[in-house]
Amino acid sequence: MIECALDPDTKKWLKDFLGDMVRFDEPMSKHTSFRVGGPAEAYVKVQNIEDLAVLVKGAYERNLPWHIIGDGTNLLVKDQGVKGIVIVLKGFFTGNEIDWKKDDSALVKCMAGFRIKNLCRLAAANRLKGMNPVLGIPGTVGGGIVMNAGNDMGAISDVLDSVTFMMADGKIKTISAKNLCFKYRKLLWDSGYKEKYGKFPVILQGIFRLCISSKSLKELEQEAWKILSRRKEKQPLEFPSAGCFFKNPLSGEPAGKLIDLAGLKGKTAGGAQISPKHANFIINRNNASCSDILELAETVKQKVADMFGVILKSEVRILE
Ligand SMILES: Cc1cc2nc3c(=O)[nH]c(=O)nc-3n(C[C@H](O)[C@H](O)[C@H](O)COP(=O)(O)OP(=O)(O)OC[C@H]3O[C@@H](n4cnc5c(N)ncnc54)[C@H](O)[C@@H]3O)c2cc1C
Repeated sequence: MIECALDPDTKKWLKDFLGDMVRFDEPMSKHTSFRVGGPAEAYVKVQNIEDLAVLVKGAYERNLPWHIIGDGTNLLVKDQGVKGIVIVLKGFFTGNEIDWKKDDSALVKCMAGFRIKNLCRLAAANRLKGMNPVLGIPGTVGGGIVMNAGNDMGAISDVLDSVTFMMADGKIKTISAKNLCFKYRKLLWDSGYKEKYGKFPVILQGIFRLCISSKSLKELEQEAWKILSRRKEKQPLEFPSAGCFFKNPLSGEPAGKLIDLAGLKGKTAGGAQISPKHANFIINRNNASCSDILELAETVKQKVADMFGVILKSEVRILE
């Protein structure tokens, strides 16, 4: 068990203003796609922006550790659990709206807790193109922006127009995507901000600029179906995982190919396994613990480094 960060007064403060929306010692295995992870000291489902501002500002002023999560599809939570407050936007921050422009384009506004899957559906239903790079990716719009989610066709940042975020002092700002620095599977935030607040801000909303497709609804549906079928064929979606565990090296073979060439497909550690179907997926095959997964990841890193001189970096984020 982790050392506690929340004293009884803090817990009372949380309970008094959040009521049933706060749960103490909540198992994170219930909230991550890996289905592993010990308890969060406090797990809060926030219902509105006002509560979020009080919570974030309160945690910042009290110097409490806090973490924002989306749908937990890119997270590995340590077995001993998470110190401080885990804040969740999904469930309530799901508003969305299409603002049509005269030139057959549209600005699609989505709150951070809206699922990427629903954003893709909304775009397709309105014959708006541009979402194929994130089609089939689980998780929320907020998590997708932070991770710059995507595939070999592109990334979410390609169609992002602007982002609205909340700072640790509760203030809200909007920034044009042109002024943000997106890299492969990450969004880099201004280092001055991080120095001041010690934290990444909370993404509240993403606005996407999409254009009308010349294809019919039926053609768009077929295109989507092909992309989703390809994912199903290649990925072990029947087992809990967090998707690709390692980032692809910036040049040379992709991580999955290197792991496969290292002969590691099917290798296990406790209940965790390198998927025999896709070598860059570590799957929770049989009640794996976070330690099992980390042990396996370490074996992969060592073997790939020894054989190919490539240092693999984790795409999955660790929460503790
Ligand atoms: C089967 C499977 C397939 C996948 N395939 C892909 C793929 O093809 N391409 C790809 O890129 N990813 C893929 N992923 C990984 C994952 O789905 C994406 O990274 C997704 O964008 C994560 O979204 P999330 O809401 O689950 O974020 P989480 O996992 O909950 O969080 C990810 C990070 O974002 C931060 N965060 C989340 N929401 C906010 C917010 N509102 N404000 C500030 N910070 C926030 C968290 O603190 C954390 O650091 C896959 C995962 C699975 C399980």
